[in-house]
Amino acid sequence: MRPFTYERATSAADAAAAAARTQGAKFIAGGTNLLDLMKLEIETPVHLIDVNGLGLDRIERVSGGGLRIGALVRNTDLAANDRVRRDYGVLSRALLAGASGQLRNKATTAGNLLQRTRCPYFYDTNLPCNKRKPGSGCAAIGGYSRQLGVIGTSDACIATNPSDMNVALRLLDAQVETVRPDGATRAIPIAEFHLLPGSTPHVETALATGELITAVTLPEPLGGEHFYHKVRDRASYAFALISVAAIIRRDGSGRVAVGGVAPKPWRSEAAEGELRRGAGPVVSQLLAGAKPTHHNEFKVPLVERTLASVMNEARTA
Ligand SMILES: Cc1cc2nc3c(=O)[nH]c(=O)nc-3n(C[C@H](O)[C@H](O)[C@H](O)COP(=O)(O)OP(=O)(O)OC[C@H]3O[C@@H](n4cnc5c(N)ncnc54)[C@H](O)[C@@H]3O)c2cc1C
Ligand code: SF4
Repeated sequence: MRPFTYERATSAADAAAAAARTQGAKFIAGGTNLLDLMKLEIETPVHLIDVNGLGLDRIERVSGGGLRIGALVRNTDLAANDRVRRDYGVLSRALLAGASGQLRNKATTAGNLLQRTRCPYFYDTNLPCNKRKPGSGCAAIGGYSRQLGVIGTSDACIATNPSDMNVALRLLDAQVETVRPDGATRAIPIAEFHLLPGSTPHVETALATGELITAVTLPEPLGGEHFYHKVRDRASYAFALISVAAIIRRDGSGRVAVGGVAPKPWRSEAAEGELRRGAGPVVSQLLAGAKPTHHNEFKVPLVERTLASVMNEARTA
């Protein structure tokens, strides 16, 4: 691990200003992703700004019936919150499908949003990776790509976003609240928060340098049954091969978002219009234009079968 300096931020605006002032600075929250990457010298920040003392750890109602989740709310606390379990069950289930109890006790809402890919070549510093080292190439293209993306990928990167929580947030149309180094605040719709790789896979989100996430807001609850089905290589403590988050109403209409297939949680509102016709028509539209590799072409039918099982469960609920 490389040497770095460390400070504890005392206000959100100061944290953002400090991050913009020092080139190579990074925020640290639970540290469950960042510290691993620092030990492997994949992330090499020169300065860490600890945001744990900012008091951003509350879950509050907002006017209009929604929910505001502080950036520092731990994944365990968010999953266990009564209101989240009752009104946003898909979020609670997605969180509980991720990592392990110990990790969820440390992991935060903002850190989970920003966790980096699990592409095995991103972790191997002996091999080229455009995300880790822009312009160096992509060892995954032509390599072993079973876990990697089938849609939204590019000639520069085929990695997926590994988060379970992000899939539920996309389904729920969350917004990400931030403060910028000049003190200005904004709310970024989750659909625009994670970026597709294009020719710049190292640029992963809409955040500007030094911009701090302060909260995630959810709109008022939607009626319907909530589902999060995650398919993985072992029953726990494994990232998704694919996952399906869905809200299905009694009349068969609803919403669907998919994880494990793309560089961001994948959702198409147009495809949701096909829900009453069955899983096949939804997935044909949702994954239209998919370019799977020989190793991961199983993901397309797996998404369809998983959505079919969700819809079957919804019918019998
Ligand atoms: C063994 C293992 C298994 C896992 N399995 C799963 C899984 O199955 N599913 C899943 O979804 N996840 C899984 N995870 C990932 C885990 O959910 C993330 O590591 C965790 O959510 C990151 O949160 P953190 O608070 O620890 O982030 P940190 O490591 O502290 O930070 C992550 C990134 O976010 C930035 N950051 C943090 N807070 C802010 C803020 N307020 N504003 C702006 N930037 C910020 C940091 O600078 C850093 O770049 C696993 C992790 C491990 C180690
Ligand atoms: S798929 Fe992306 S993260 Fe993986 S090696 Fe290629 S550029 Fe790097």
